[in-house]
Amino acid sequence: MTCACLDRDLDAYVDGELPAEADAAARTHLDGCASCAARLRQRQALKRALQAIPYFETPPGVRATIALRASRMRSLRRLGLIAAAAVVVLAAARTVTFLPLRPAPASDAAQALVDGHVRSLMADHLLDVRSTDQHTVKPWFIGKLDFSPPVTDLAGQGYPLVGGRVDYVAGQLVAALVYQRRQHVINVFVAPSGTATAGVAARSVRGFHVRRWTAGGMWFSAVSDLNEAELDAFVSALRSS
Ligand SMILES: [Zn+2]
Repeated sequence: MTCACLDRDLDAYVDGELPAEADAAARTHLDGCASCAARLRQRQALKRALQAIPYFETPPGVRATIALRASRMRSLRRLGLIAAAAVVVLAAARTVTFLPLRPAPASDAAQALVDGHVRSLMADHLLDVRSTDQHTVKPWFIGKLDFSPPVTDLAGQGYPLVGGRVDYVAGQLVAALVYQRRQHVINVFVAPSGTATAGVAARSVRGFHVRRWTAGGMWFSAVSDLNEAELDAFVSALRSS
C-alpha cells in the first residue's frame, strides 16, 4: 500500500470500517511509515475531540442539515480541511441550535396597541374622564396633550362614548377614547401622525382586533375584542362622523 492509498482510506481505517484485507494492509503500512502514522494519530485525536463536544438537542430539520454537513465533512480527506470544516460546522450548529431560544422579534405597532388596550382593562385605568358627553371629554384633554383629539359620541349608532384618558403606547403619549358596545370596550387611540395612509389597516393580535387609519394629521387605532364586523361598522361610523 502506498501513502496515497492509505491517505484515501484513513478515515475508514480510523472508524474501523475497512474490509479485513485492506485493514491489515493499512496496519502494515502504518507500522513502517512514520508520516502516515503521525497523520493517523492526528486523525484519532480529532475524532476524540469531536466526540467530546457536548450534544445539544436540536430540531429534526436542523439535525438533518448538520448530519448532511457532517457526512460531507467525512468525505474531506485532509486533516486540515476536516479541522477547518469542523470549526465551521460546529459554529453553524451552535448558531442554529440557539436560534429558537432567542427572544421573539420586537413587538410591532399592533402588538403595542393591544398591550395598551389590555393594560387599560387590567389596571383599572380605563377612564380618567368619565362622560358620555363629547363636549366634556374633548376639553378634558386640553393641557394634558399637545394636540386636541377629535371626540365624537356614537351613541346614535349603538357605540356610546363612555370617556377617555391619556395613555402611553409604544413610546408615544396618546389620547385614548373609550367606547362601549354591549359588554365590549373599544379603545380608540389617537396621536399626531407625520404620514397619511389610505384606507383602514386591519390586524388581529391574541384575539383582539386592531383597525388603524389616519385622518387630519393624526393616526387612529381602534382596538377591541368585539367581533370584526361590528368593529368595522364602528370604524366606518367614526370615520364618517
Ligand atoms: Zn505512508
